[in-house]
Amino acid sequence: MSDERYEDSRLYRIRHSMAHVMAEAMLERFPEAKIAIGPPIEDGFYYDFDLPRPVTDEDLAWVEKRMKKIIGGAHDFIVREVSPDEAREIFKDQPYKIELINDLEAGRVDENGNQIAEAADTITVYTQDTFTDLCRGPHVANTKELNAKAFSIRFKPPAGAYWRGDENREQLTRIYGTAWETPEELKDYLHRLEEAKRRDHRVLGDKLGLFTFSPLVGKGLPLWKPRGAILRDTLERWLRQVQIDHGYDPVVTPHVGNLDLYRTSGHYPYYADSQYNPIQVDDEEFLLKPMNCPHHIMIYKSEMRSYRDLPVRFAEFGTVYRYEQSGELQGLTRVRGFTVDDAHLFVTPDQLLDEFKDVVRLTQYVFDALGLTDFRARVGTRDDGDKWVGDEALWDKATNAIIQACEELGLPHYVEEGEAAFYGPKLDFIFRDVLKREWQLGTVQVDYNLPERFELEYVAPNNVRERPVMIHRAPFGSLERFIGILIEHFDGAFPAWLAPVQVMMIPVADRHFDYADRIAAQLKQHGLRAEVDKGKARIGGKIREAREQRIPWMLIVGDKDVENQTVSLRLRTDEDLGAMSLEAFIALAQRIIDTHSMALQ
Ligand SMILES: [Zn+2]
Ligand SMILES: [Zn+2]
Repeated sequence: MSDERYEDSRLYRIRHSMAHVMAEAMLERFPEAKIAIGPPIEDGFYYDFDLPRPVTDEDLAWVEKRMKKIIGGAHDFIVREVSPDEAREIFKDQPYKIELINDLEAGRVDENGNQIAEAADTITVYTQDTFTDLCRGPHVANTKELNAKAFSIRFKPPAGAYWRGDENREQLTRIYGTAWETPEELKDYLHRLEEAKRRDHRVLGDKLGLFTFSPLVGKGLPLWKPRGAILRDTLERWLRQVQIDHGYDPVVTPHVGNLDLYRTSGHYPYYADSQYNPIQVDDEEFLLKPMNCPHHIMIYKSEMRSYRDLPVRFAEFGTVYRYEQSGELQGLTRVRGFTVDDAHLFVTPDQLLDEFKDVVRLTQYVFDALGLTDFRARVGTRDDGDKWVGDEALWDKATNAIIQACEELGLPHYVEEGEAAFYGPKLDFIFRDVLKREWQLGTVQVDYNLPERFELEYVAPNNVRERPVMIHRAPFGSLERFIGILIEHFDGAFPAWLAPVQVMMIPVADRHFDYADRIAAQLKQHGLRAEVDKGKARIGGKIREAREQRIPWMLIVGDKDVENQTVSLRLRTDEDLGAMSLEAFIALAQRIIDTHSMALQ
């Protein structure tokens, strides 16, 4: 993956330029339209218009055709710097632009309407052909650098949008575009969009019987069905074992905590917006756990710790509850109750590098084992401001440790200044799935704040009490979100070791039921998750159903198999591996499962 920032890329300039070309064509179609803003976004661009009537498919087809013409006209993008007064003259018929110019002049926003505060005495405008826009660029030099066959404004329906995102202001029509360098890239993108729709984890989760939601239970609270629970449990047990192998100690803590615990940690009242109201029980007030950290801290504090005990690593699949607006809830990826692969490490400042390296190593191991190869990390560092706590030298040491850990272990990473938490630098893991979509997973954060607030200590070699540093780490975020992402990445076809049902026995006729049952019983004895399809469908239908359910292995049994005591193996990819002895199949399956292999599925 390229480390170039999107803002510096050629695609960004192409999309910025395309937004202007679309606005030009739209103004020809709707001469009375008022134009708002039109920035590039991920995979494309949009422009917001105030239109005299709703936009139709015919309009969009006309505009798209007209855009191709404009592109073919080989127009330069000409930049000019003008005074605010000149700008107001240029845009005298465009009230939204006038408002932006006034705010630019006063230093309230930039050209994309984003809040900044630096008064502008000159304003940049770009002109191509007949169209002039308020814009800081960058653009391509000439429309001939745009590919008329590599964009679309009809791939996604227009949407409503409020001027400046303010629901009390005018409602505008947002027209989306996508633009690429070549027609092949466009085609590939449109295909990925279709795939993403088909692979939506909410659709697959329902079809594969993994989870469900009930309004009676509550919004954003997933209910795991048996097949989903097996998947989740398999993943959780494996991750727990990996943590134990890396020297973590499992702990278990309750789902609520006394409000004073969160007053001490500062989670209450500072993060009250994302929490539920306290619950009164007798003379105590409780909070539904928004974070596991304070509980783990109290386990650390329950004993006197010496430097010899450090690092102390407490791990828990801890369920937490956070308030998310109901409009933000989405399947498993945005929920109100979720289980974090949480761990808290209590270390000396000198142990930071080794601990970070081990967290990165553990994360790499898990990604590799799942066959997820495209991931990288974002290092969030402190900026020059004063919104941070702790010692400057310690911050630098921790930041260097994070970067060094990434470098030594070959983890692709990039630094984003100012992205640190106020209490310490951090590392975020970002995964790119088969559809090239980026997902931010979990995070590793250094914390100088909580050890201070809870007055944590260890006895140093010179018998002096020192403060440990805390590392919060949850590299995969939550099990809910991680599984949601895995469902879409694998299209529900999990590696055999994770598949809720690994083997579907398919008897050719009713007279083979007994034999299939016997085989299934033996498979279960060997730890394989097997079921028998005794439905009324014919064999072709049963195979289709097992494939739809993404079951890795189908064992078809008919007269020949009963006679020879064999099974006939078919994969969900439709590959037919023919007859083999049951022992041979079990050995094969166990080898694949034990090694987390993706072979023969
Ligand atoms: Zn522009
Ligand atoms: Zn934490």
